[in-house]
Amino acid sequence: MGESELVLDGMTIDEAMRILGGGTRGGASAPRPIRNAEQASVAVTPDRDPRVDEPATSSREINDSQLGDWRAALRATGAAPDSMARKSAPKNPDAAPPIVPVSYAVPAFESLDDIAKHIATCTKCPLYSTALNPVPGEGNPNADFMCVGEAPGATEDETGRPFVGAAGQLLTKILEAIGLRREDVFIVNVLKHRPPGNRNPAPDEVTACSPYLVRQIELVKPKVILALGTFAAQTLLDTKTSIGKLRGQVHRYHGVPLIVTYHPAALLRNPSWKRPTWEDVQLAHRILNSAPVPPPGT
Ligand code: URA
Repeated sequence: MGESELVLDGMTIDEAMRILGGGTRGGASAPRPIRNAEQASVAVTPDRDPRVDEPATSSREINDSQLGDWRAALRATGAAPDSMARKSAPKNPDAAPPIVPVSYAVPAFESLDDIAKHIATCTKCPLYSTALNPVPGEGNPNADFMCVGEAPGATEDETGRPFVGAAGQLLTKILEAIGLRREDVFIVNVLKHRPPGNRNPAPDEVTACSPYLVRQIELVKPKVILALGTFAAQTLLDTKTSIGKLRGQVHRYHGVPLIVTYHPAALLRNPSWKRPTWEDVQLAHRILNSAPVPPPGT
């Protein structure tokens, strides 16, 4: 493979890795460039099996018994992803289905501001009582690219803004590496209030908060969702599958292509995961660029 083929998104992988602080590929074999979303489900192959030394991909450990409970609750509300969620990419990415209208009992929040107002006074779970500020999410309300993280950390709790601490600064760099400014995208978390001490989100907290996230995705209508870390990925995809198996494929969330990657906090602890992350964000970027433009008024 010629080096020119590695020039992706205007930047070589080595250049991107330098910007992200992850070193270069050295002697490692170059990943095959992904030409379209169809190839995407098989083309992104890390050099080693990510399951072998899979990180605790968020700042919190995931407890399977906790996950099971809220998944069942989420399924009961219908907020879990539809049956398309785990299908691979369509044969022709230009023919990707439109966002599938969701038909479950999610309050009909009229706007993102309306959602933020509800979150600001939300008492549906106990987290409001320990958090300093709600963190509803922010960004371009018409963003084509949406990032979904786990829950606010200390800096986010203090500022009321998502991903503004150390992990957030790395996320900003990752976005910039594919030509996106923070203000171009919409950034949210599954939970809108900080769990004390950054503990794991509890099932009832996820169940209580999920309608906000579901409606945010519905209102923003992104062309691509980037799920950051195990917790966001497993929540959105309603699965217990490990992040090592989930990444490198195009999933769907109510019809919206969804790519899974490592949480930026995990990258800070494990810089060697920057390269697979870079592959994931390039995949997301490719889907973004090939996504059909919806007709006006939709
Ligand atoms: N980690 C997250 O998952 N979200 C944030 O907003 C910050 C850190």
